[in-house]
Amino acid sequence: MNAEQLKSSNNFPPAIRVGVLGFGGLGQAAAKLLAAKREMILVAAVDQKGYAYAAEGLNIQECIATYQSQGSVGYLEPVGNLTNHSIQDLIESAHPVDGYFLALPNLPNDFIPSVAKEFIKAGWRGVLVDAIKRTSAVEQLLAMKEELQAAGITYMTGCGATPGLLTAAAALAAQSYAEIHQVEITFGVGIANWEAYRATVREDIGHMPGYTVEAARAMTDAEVEALLDKTNGVLTLENMEHADDVMLEIAGICDRDRVTVGGVVDTRNPKKPLSTNVKVTGRTFEGKISTHTFTLGDETSMAANVCGPAFGYLKAGTQLHQRGVYGIFTAAEIMPQFVR
Ligand code: NAD
Repeated sequence: MNAEQLKSSNNFPPAIRVGVLGFGGLGQAAAKLLAAKREMILVAAVDQKGYAYAAEGLNIQECIATYQSQGSVGYLEPVGNLTNHSIQDLIESAHPVDGYFLALPNLPNDFIPSVAKEFIKAGWRGVLVDAIKRTSAVEQLLAMKEELQAAGITYMTGCGATPGLLTAAAALAAQSYAEIHQVEITFGVGIANWEAYRATVREDIGHMPGYTVEAARAMTDAEVEALLDKTNGVLTLENMEHADDVMLEIAGICDRDRVTVGGVVDTRNPKKPLSTNVKVTGRTFEGKISTHTFTLGDETSMAANVCGPAFGYLKAGTQLHQRGVYGIFTAAEIMPQFVR
């Protein structure tokens, strides 16, 4: 019995065949998380220099070891392919994949929307999930709603931690109130070294005063290190352009100017510098002003809080897709489904 049949036995429906686009920090964490799941099977992994595909399921440890030692899953024999157009080549190969998690850098700021366009152009049908962060990037995707609908793609956007888990928690907390006054998201991230999450750190630098997405993208690794040396490895971020605002506005919860996002990222210590939380303040129908606070456990890593929700939304997106519901949805509109 192969891995797929094994996973789908014991009265479980066939496992959802998953591809992970981007095999850096989050992509590898996503693969590790899937290893323990019965309802999903990792069939494709893609990085900048190649991809690996196995219909019966990839050997996750081998994928990670190959990526870390040789720089691309494309070197993995016999399932790897080396190519500079890895995403396009995988889509065009027409290997069956039910849904993809886009764990790609969104550098430049229209990169993930351009990948979505590749899927549409190729006539691919299925579920796409991202953990994209910027408001302006989510807005580009939302503008593609009709194209996605016509293509038969169910696209779930903003489905990481923030935006994602915390935005969804805010949407839930809002139910106690007649009017929402403020949604305040504060995140703490601790990672042992910045190289494990280069795109995340570069994108965060793009939010600092005096920097832009383009400036952060153009920085060499040495320049990033020099900046981190000056701040003792800590990035403090305030009033970030984060899509939690547009997502809560579209969900009809509050105007975007009532939503703020900030946080502290320690790139030299896996311990969180502060507890990640969302505070939702509003007025009840009786006229009482109150605040709900949802705080993540300090032991939970960024990877756990991004990849768990991403696959929860991939499962929810698969159910929508099976019912013929296509287009684009945000993490604030749909409840994620727990993946067993
Ligand atoms: P990383 O730098 O560790 O890895 C990026 C991966 O993408 C690498 O494997 C690289 O080879 C691959 N890649 C780059 N360009 C590619 C291309 N053109 N084709 C195919 N593969 C390509 O990235 P990371 O730190 O894991 O971050 C991934 C994304 O997750 C970032 O956009 C980050 O903002 C996002 N993120 C979201 C949240 C959230 O809560 N929403 C939290 C953390 C990170």
